[in-house]
Amino acid sequence: MQKEFLNVQNVDNQMDPYKKNCKYRYCNREFVAKRLNQLYCNYDHKKKENNCKAKEIRDKTKDIDFIIRRNRRILKDFFYSGKTEVNYNDLELQGFNHKYSTHIEKESDGNARIPYYYEYGLVLINSDIWRQFKIINKNGKFNI
Ligand SMILES: [Zn+2]
Repeated sequence: MQKEFLNVQNVDNQMDPYKKNCKYRYCNREFVAKRLNQLYCNYDHKKKENNCKAKEIRDKTKDIDFIIRRNRRILKDFFYSGKTEVNYNDLELQGFNHKYSTHIEKESDGNARIPYYYEYGLVLINSDIWRQFKIINKNGKFNI
């Protein structure tokens, strides 16, 4: 019974491609589109649906984004205080989390892989038990 009803609706929509259901998740109202690519019954619902999608993305990424931004801030603070070489403990004490970075780059003159936290990279310069790193800043001018 339910399936037949849906089929009838599909046939209706095929007959009039301008007759659509609003894609805003809290509306879904049937409307007559002015253009074939119109998905929402009005601009406000387009805006609201896009805000819903943006919030979903923020909710899914905020925890890791927070960690990566904190990592960046820690490196930035060391870098601009003049301490561009740090060891593992220095970073740990500030709450640095080695698990998350924005990307990895290959060293230009070698095979070492450098983790980056936005524009700040951490180059391992001594792998003894203290694990010494050099902090590099790719677009080095601005202290933001
Ligand atoms: Zn709508």
